[in-house]
Amino acid sequence: MRDYTKTIELKTTTGAKITVSQTLTLSKTINADGDKVCVECCDLGPVEAVIDGFPDQSCFINFPEPKQEKMGLIYGCIGKLGLLKDNYDKVVELVEAVKRHPAWIAKQSKIDDNIKANKALDAQRKANGYCEKCGSYCYGDC
Ligand SMILES: [Zn+2]
Repeated sequence: MRDYTKTIELKTTTGAKITVSQTLTLSKTINADGDKVCVECCDLGPVEAVIDGFPDQSCFINFPEPKQEKMGLIYGCIGKLGLLKDNYDKVVELVEAVKRHPAWIAKQSKIDDNIKANKALDAQRKANGYCEKCGSYCYGDC
């Protein structure tokens, strides 16, 4: 399956172009004891920013509280690139758009199902006398 990449373009306060992208990797080649095998996956990559005239930045961070900088209120950042409200909102929309991909939604659903299955298994074990202290069915004899 082909990877899914979403890209948007922003401007800095000085007018430099910023190309922001995030990729959902849907297949990768792994090394299985020397055999190269292509497997399906669903890995969400970091938010990356290519900025004209500046080093590339990556890793999107939401600030719990906006920070006051000389260019204005910063709501988050990509690496060292501070994001004003307008650009911040566009980056949040980009991340949400990537997370609306059917493969990502299916992965989250599977994770939720596995959590429910693990809780049901734990409850069943406990009801059958499983002791978490010693890790066996000792029925309190440990
Ligand atoms: Zn025990």
